[in-house]
Amino acid sequence: MSAYMGKLLYVDLNKGTATEMPLDPQLAENFVGGKGFGAKILYDLLPAGCDPLSPQNILMFMPGPITGTLAPANRGCVVTKSPLTNTFADSYFGGHFAQEIRFCGYDGIVITGAAAEPSYLWIDEGKVEVRSAEGAWGLDTFAAVEKIREELGDISVKTACIGPAGEKMVSFALINCEYNRHAGRAGTGAVMGSKNLKAVVLRGSKPVIPADAEAFSAAVDQAYKELAEDETIASFTTDGTPASIDFANDEQLLPTNNYTDGAFEGAGGLNAEAQRKHFWLRNVACAGCPIACGKVGIIKRGRRKGLVTDVVEYETAAMVGSNLGIKDIREVSYLVKKCDALGLDGMSAGGVIGFAIEAFQNGLITAEQTGGLELKFGDTATAEYLLDAIAAREGLGDLLAGGVKQAAARLGGGADQYAVHVKGLESPAWGPRSVPGMGLALATADRGGCHQRAFPILYEVGGEWNGVEVDRAALKGKGEIVAHLQNYLAALDTLVKCDFAAYGIRDATYCRLLETATGGSWDVEKLMALGERIWNQVRLFNLREGFTRADDTLPKRFTEQPLPEGPFAGQMITLQDLDRMLDEYYAVRGWDEEGKPTEEKLKQLGLDQMPKLV
Ligand code: SF4
Repeated sequence: MSAYMGKLLYVDLNKGTATEMPLDPQLAENFVGGKGFGAKILYDLLPAGCDPLSPQNILMFMPGPITGTLAPANRGCVVTKSPLTNTFADSYFGGHFAQEIRFCGYDGIVITGAAAEPSYLWIDEGKVEVRSAEGAWGLDTFAAVEKIREELGDISVKTACIGPAGEKMVSFALINCEYNRHAGRAGTGAVMGSKNLKAVVLRGSKPVIPADAEAFSAAVDQAYKELAEDETIASFTTDGTPASIDFANDEQLLPTNNYTDGAFEGAGGLNAEAQRKHFWLRNVACAGCPIACGKVGIIKRGRRKGLVTDVVEYETAAMVGSNLGIKDIREVSYLVKKCDALGLDGMSAGGVIGFAIEAFQNGLITAEQTGGLELKFGDTATAEYLLDAIAAREGLGDLLAGGVKQAAARLGGGADQYAVHVKGLESPAWGPRSVPGMGLALATADRGGCHQRAFPILYEVGGEWNGVEVDRAALKGKGEIVAHLQNYLAALDTLVKCDFAAYGIRDATYCRLLETATGGSWDVEKLMALGERIWNQVRLFNLREGFTRADDTLPKRFTEQPLPEGPFAGQMITLQDLDRMLDEYYAVRGWDEEGKPTEEKLKQLGLDQMPKLV
């Protein structure tokens, strides 16, 4: 008995076939679930150099081994090769979809090929069908889900769905996994669109049974207790992620007007207090989560009155708010909901629109390309126009649909100085110029600039890590912190835990949940080794795709343009600074000077002779 369901479902859309494969015990032992399964499968089964938008690319929906149990706050991830970055990509989603994969009897769904016509995948208990999506194709994400539910006559089916942007293969299209829960980053929706796959729809009722039900139940109680006692968790419940707006603004980390500044005079209009005042009504939660950081609501006053919405998360409040100079959270809420409906990642969309405004201001985009519209900061109409154009790939929208890296290359004329990305992924809403460790974390993140692979800001601003004093401005020592955090989070991303719950649940409790669910034996040391193995497995994938040390870098905005004012005025991370941190980071990782894992490191992690999946 084990919480593993014991099967992966392989779907070939070229042939319209579905095959259940027994879960390989070696895969379960060495890669555990979620990110780990995705990393190993992508490395072994995807041909090197594969076009991410070709039928050969692999699209995986992966829960973890405790997803669907009573353990609190677990989610799922989509793993694929990114059309935005050409790297490995893993993108995480909440809601109820990941649990339903398990209730259908699977430890993951692996999709290859492309359907001849717009289709959706319908998995009803053990029965798998590829159905026509003719009635849903072209609809926004909300309408498409309604249409499919209506067709199936069941409003309780769980869906993962793309919008018009995914259909048009916009490189930063998302997959909507429930009203306000998405696999948002790195263009997973474009991969789904390239497969002519509008949605994956699930209905299942199989139980997920832990190996030792009594001990697992005790571990669940312990996890709940830790969540209940933690102050950070309490703040997620009361204020959600928008609580970070004030913190980021005070610390000059808040992207403002395409990261030209780190503080925004209108921050008070975007924070938790503003959101509560204008629209929050009550908390909502993903399956089995006591934190309930979501906040369903309706805008009460003004021109957006009546708009049904949810919390505007910190990342989108910043990227679509301060980063575009928009101060009114009701306008930001409207724009973020538009992104969700069109199926665009709001974080990347904010980066792309900020880039376009600066390119316009500097004459690289002309009024002729915008139909006469002046692109400017602080203007909802600018953002609205560009979102529609991008999702439809019309005119200027087509130029921007590949993300800022590609758009800057196409525009030329020094446009790269306005393109804020790492490896093609638009940066998250944490400007790193006064926190070099965060700069290193962005430069080395496996899917491109990402704050969810390591978030050393907490320790750089907090001044302490593992009982040791941390100097915010120092370069030395940041490599060790970043590598440790990356390993830890890679391990927990196999479970697949929610990032927020990990602030409260202790490492030892996660180990206990894992061992009582799966029947193995886990301690923190083994968990960290698992994370390191996965991080290196993904590194091997990215190296095979042609990435080098030169790609572990930061955009010019952070390396050449210092913060203009405030307590951290003049600070930036020069390329020399970054080089020093990279040397230390590679040494901590046991990689050579070019960032390649040494033979010794691969041997230590058991990756040198790991059997290949076939
Ligand atoms: S903390 Fe929020 S995002 Fe995480 S599982 Fe709970 S409700 Fe979902």
